[in-house]
Amino acid sequence: MSDQYQVFAKTPVGKFVIKNLGLPSPITLDRFQAATPVIQGAVLFGAAVANEVSSAVAQVLANVHANTYAGNQPELQQAAAKVGLNLSAFNTTDTASKFKAVIFDASGIESSEQLRSLYDFFHPIARQIQTSGRVIVVGLNPDTAGSVQQAIAQRALEGFVKSVGKEFKKGITAQLVYVDKGAEANLESSLRFLLSPRSAYVSGQVLRVSQAAVVDVDWSKPLAGKTAVVTGASRGIGEAIAHVLARDGAHVICLDVPQQQADLDRVAAEISGSTLAIDITAEDAGEKIKAAAVALGGLDIIVHNAGITRDKTLANMKPELWDLVLNINLSAIERVNRYLLAEKGLNDNGRIICVSSISGIAGNLGQTNYAVSKAGVIGVVKYTAATLKDGVTINAVAPGFIETQMTAAIPFAIREAGRRMNSMSQGGLPVDVAETIALFAAPTSTGLNGNVVRVCGQSLLGA
Ligand code: NAD
Repeated sequence: MSDQYQVFAKTPVGKFVIKNLGLPSPITLDRFQAATPVIQGAVLFGAAVANEVSSAVAQVLANVHANTYAGNQPELQQAAAKVGLNLSAFNTTDTASKFKAVIFDASGIESSEQLRSLYDFFHPIARQIQTSGRVIVVGLNPDTAGSVQQAIAQRALEGFVKSVGKEFKKGITAQLVYVDKGAEANLESSLRFLLSPRSAYVSGQVLRVSQAAVVDVDWSKPLAGKTAVVTGASRGIGEAIAHVLARDGAHVICLDVPQQQADLDRVAAEISGSTLAIDITAEDAGEKIKAAAVALGGLDIIVHNAGITRDKTLANMKPELWDLVLNINLSAIERVNRYLLAEKGLNDNGRIICVSSISGIAGNLGQTNYAVSKAGVIGVVKYTAATLKDGVTINAVAPGFIETQMTAAIPFAIREAGRRMNSMSQGGLPVDVAETIALFAAPTSTGLNGNVVRVCGQSLLGA
């Protein structure tokens, strides 16, 4: 579905009209391209107090060969030098330098008074971030803080990134990564994702990283040797997920209803995957999924993407529409997960990834059935996460307005509002959801468990 307004905004007349009427001005967001570095452009790095989290961040910046700058912070220089990261000097009076990413380790902040270090670091360079730039604040998970004072200060960081995400415009994203005490070594997959164009449509989000085994991977093919099932893979977001997981090295079993067999065959052929034409609500769906993966070494990743809408106001909604949406979008996921977890249908370090929606967070007129199902999906993640063992994780993405057949069917005025009411002033693409799912799918992401990340360009809905 093409966004005519965005096309118009790039014409000379469009630029003139938009500027003079103060209308939103969507830019073309940078997106991932094969064989390009994680980050193209300079990175500014700072820390409230250099500590072991700063060293871990420096290690990631060294690993991705980031061209990194820092102000006059001797402890940070030492932490970086220890991991082989060369920090070029940056003076805040230099207003000509531009940064593609700015990353600040705020984990050492212990009181609200010390939050001033955020202002001191970001204020001078607030106009020096490039288009599609990245702002990342790393904090200490307040639940693992050493004192109430520290927990309060760390909790406050959320307000900063969410405001910056709204202020900086130009496709610049801002995120907060909370790391548990002792989980610094688990930061790498999250930081690589957030620094790179893979996170183009993710902004104003909080990722929580906990301590887990650290796994070595070939970062260009992190899913090599893995087998994944993607439900609803014949089109839309599911098709994009299948492509991205295959690109990252997985064998993908594309699952959809038998009526979609032709498209399912097409997608599977494009990615050298296989197909499983079943209805996900069938009683034996879990068994069939497990069986399909056996010959491929067992299942490593399941992405519960299949979902439907049947919109009606509650007063007009027939019971069958309620039942159908709840069954496909929520109960089927629970049944399949129960089967796979009880019957060893998922390998060690397996990944369960669900697709929720901002409807499940904000609610939506005419979507009581859909919003209940998608809020339920968040419940699935939250309450299953704590029960998992053997490195298995569960996380969800909650897409906002994504350009697909589902959103093309929305009436024009509501569709335009959905597209523009976010910090990017545009809808996201299926690939944006897929890239976020690939983060959770990676074997290096065992420290991510129980997260729900919105892929919504920081939509105002439910924010
Ligand atoms: P889509 O309608 O284009 O694709 C959904 C796919 O799921 C279809 O191929 C369909 O055949 C399949 N499916 C439906 N019922 C099934 C069943 N019982 N068994 C097996 N497969 C079944 O939708 P989409 O826009 O690509 O959405 C994918 C997911 O993302 C859904 O869960 C949706 O709720 C969610 N989502 C989408 C948006 C958006 O803006 N498009 C926003 C938020 C959430």
